[in-house]
Amino acid sequence: MGKVYLVGAGPGDPELLTVKAARLLARAGIVFHDSLVSREILQLIARDAEVIDVGKRCGRKLLTQDEINSLLVSAAANHEVVIRLKGGDPLIFGRAGEEIEALRNAAVDFEVVPGITAALGAAAVAGISLTDRRAASQVVISTFSRSTEGPALDWGAITSTTTLALYMPGPDYAEVAHRLREGGLPDDLPCVIVSNATGAEEQIRWTSLARLADEEKLPAPALMIVGRVASQKVQEISKAFWHSTPNDRHAPRAAVS
Ligand code: SAH
Repeated sequence: MGKVYLVGAGPGDPELLTVKAARLLARAGIVFHDSLVSREILQLIARDAEVIDVGKRCGRKLLTQDEINSLLVSAAANHEVVIRLKGGDPLIFGRAGEEIEALRNAAVDFEVVPGITAALGAAAVAGISLTDRRAASQVVISTFSRSTEGPALDWGAITSTTTLALYMPGPDYAEVAHRLREGGLPDDLPCVIVSNATGAEEQIRWTSLARLADEEKLPAPALMIVGRVASQKVQEISKAFWHSTPNDRHAPRAAVS
């Protein structure tokens, strides 16, 4: 029996891969990867390894999650090193939970190798601190639920000192702005959109919830960082905030189902 490694490929730049991930890719017998993983990183895979793309293409899944789970289990019977390679970190919006459960149920040995998740790559290239003490007390990693598969964003967790890292915002920025404002976030709240963070095609747009609807759509993969830290003038924005009344600061968020 071999071992299955759930490996994070990081946000794009191959240099952001961990040393462990690079070493395992060079030893792999078989690799199941997502479409988010860059070509440069795929080139680090051992020449004689079998490489299988299990990712989405144009919104259509090549394989179902159950099929991927079964493939991982059966591959462990034939290969010493089986790699499930995912963009960013495997434990953030990566369906690793389901794969881990399948591996546990089949008594297959596994290990998770963390990667740099997209929100951290995006914050790095934008040069903003997600927990800037002048403006934030917590970071929420979330997405709008687009299906019946998962729970919706919990608005109760979004306070005036929250930095929201919004994965998979989709191309309809007007809808995103609408949903965030409906959730009680103020119009002037800064927002930065980062597309292809750390990759060759990287793009960054500084905006606010009020302006978001009119922003040019950036190509996927993209995410948004929303909150007072998502600005190049955190000091200025925070000063205005602390000079507001406590009632304004802690205005309860509208409940959204
Ligand atoms: N496991 C991944 C997330 C997979 S969900 C991670 O930890 O990063 C896919 C979403 O991640 C994309 O829709 C996008 O919102 C975000 N994403 C992934 N790579 C990105 C990148 N290089 N730049 C910006 N967003 C990215």
